[in-house]
Amino acid sequence: MFTRVLIANRGEIALRVIRACKELGIQTVVVHSEADKDAGYLKLADRKVCIGPASSSESYLRSDRIIAAAELAGADAIHPGYGFLAENAMFAEQCRQSGIEFIGPSAEAMRLLGDKAQARKLAKRAKVPTVPGSEGLVEDEEKAIAVAATVGYPVLIKAVAGGGGRGMRVAQNDTMLRGAFKQARQEAENAFNDASVYIEKYLERPRHIEVQVLGDKHGNYVHLFERECSIQRRHQKLIEESPSPIITSKLRKDLCYAAIKLARAAEYYSAGTFEFLLDHKGQNFYFIEANARIQVEHPVTELVTGVDLVAWQLRIAAGEKLALDQRDIQLNGHAIECRINAEDPTRNFQPRPGKITHLIAPGGFGVRWDSHAYAGYEIPRYYDSLIGKLIVHRMTRGEAITCMRRCLEEIQIEPIPTTAAFHRKVLDHQCFREGQFDTGFVERELLK
Ligand code: ADP
Repeated sequence: MFTRVLIANRGEIALRVIRACKELGIQTVVVHSEADKDAGYLKLADRKVCIGPASSSESYLRSDRIIAAAELAGADAIHPGYGFLAENAMFAEQCRQSGIEFIGPSAEAMRLLGDKAQARKLAKRAKVPTVPGSEGLVEDEEKAIAVAATVGYPVLIKAVAGGGGRGMRVAQNDTMLRGAFKQARQEAENAFNDASVYIEKYLERPRHIEVQVLGDKHGNYVHLFERECSIQRRHQKLIEESPSPIITSKLRKDLCYAAIKLARAAEYYSAGTFEFLLDHKGQNFYFIEANARIQVEHPVTELVTGVDLVAWQLRIAAGEKLALDQRDIQLNGHAIECRINAEDPTRNFQPRPGKITHLIAPGGFGVRWDSHAYAGYEIPRYYDSLIGKLIVHRMTRGEAITCMRRCLEEIQIEPIPTTAAFHRKVLDHQCFREGQFDTGFVERELLK
C-alpha cells in the first residue's frame, strides 16, 4: 500500500479521499489554490501545498505544479477526485512517467472512454446497444442532416470530449440542426479545445441509469448495481438513488452485465461508471458514456452495498486483487443523495458564493453528510457550487424519502441560499414518490 498520497482536488471530494486514506493508514498531502488556503479540510491532511492563484487553470489544472508538489512531498500516488484533471489521460501519463501512481484507470483506457465516439464504437464491438446515431464523427452540416434523415428527429448533437452538458444541442428539424450544429461545435471548441461532434437520436422522456463497476489490474471485475439519476436540471444530476425504483431484476441483470462487458472491453481498472438511457417504456437501454473516475454520487452505492469505493480505488491502484466476490455484493435497502449547492433556485439556480455564518448539519439514523462546509467557511466564487452531499440509507425507498425529507428540514445553512428547499419540492411530488419520472421531469413539473 502507498505511504503517502497527494490529493489533487478540493472541497468535499478532497475530504472524502483524506478520510479513506486515514482509515488505510496512508499519509495525505493536499494541494490547494490561494482561494482555498483557509479551508478546514486542509488541517486534516498531513501536509498542504499551495499550487497557485484562485483560477483553476492556474492551480487545480496545472499538472506540472501538482506533479512537482508530489515529488517534493515524496508522495507515491495521486488521487485526482472528480472534475479538474480526473479524466485527463495526459495527466495520468505524466504521473506514470514521473514514477507516481495515478489512482484511476490506465491512460489508455481513459483516452478510449474519454472520446465518446470511440466509446460508442467500443460498445458496438462489445455488442452493447447504443443510441441510434452517427457511426463516428460528423464533420459538416450536410452529413448531420443525412444522419438525422436516417434516425429521425429530434436529434442530439454531442461533443466527443463532452462533459457537464457542454457542447450538447437538440434539433427538431433541418433548419434548427444547421444552427445547433455550429453552436455545439463552437461550445465544444471553447470548453474542450476540441470541436468534434457526433449525433444521437434524442430519446423522448428517457431515464438515466448508470452502473458502478470495480475492476483490478489482474482482469477481475465486479458491478455494484445501478444508480437512478433521472432527477436532473439541464441534463445535470440533482438527486441520485440506488436501487432504481422501477427496473425489474431481469433488466438490472442485463444492465450490470453490459457494464461489465464494457469494462472488460476497455481493459478498465479502478472505479468506473457506465451510463445508460432507458427508453420511456422501460424496455430498451442504450449505453451513452463512461465516467473514468469516482463520481459525485458514489455514496449511494456505498450505502446499499457496504463497499468503500474510494478505499478500493486506492487498493486497486496499489496492485491489490479485488477481494470482492460478485455473489457477496448484495443490495441492502435504499439510498438517496441530494446535492446541496450554494445556488438560488428562485433565480435560475444562480451560484451564490459567500460566507456561511450559521450551519447545522442534519444527522440521525441512516444519515451521511459529506461536506467540507462549516460555520465561518467562505465559499469561493471560482469553483462549482457544491457545498455538501446529503445521503440517507433506510430499509425501503419510502422510509428513505421520509428520512431525507426530515433532514432537508433540519439542515440550516445561512445566509447563503441553497438547493435544499428545492429538493423538498421534488421529494413531495407524487410522481417522485411513485418513482414515475424521467430526465425531463424536473423542468416540466417543477420549473415551468
Ligand atoms: P455529459 O457528459 O455532458 O453530462 P451525457 O452523455 O452524460 O453528457 O448526458 C447527460 C444527460 O443528457 C443524460 O443524463 C440525459 O439526460 C441527456 N442525454 C444524453 N444523451 C441523450 C439522448 N440521446 N437522448 C436524450 N437525452 C440524452
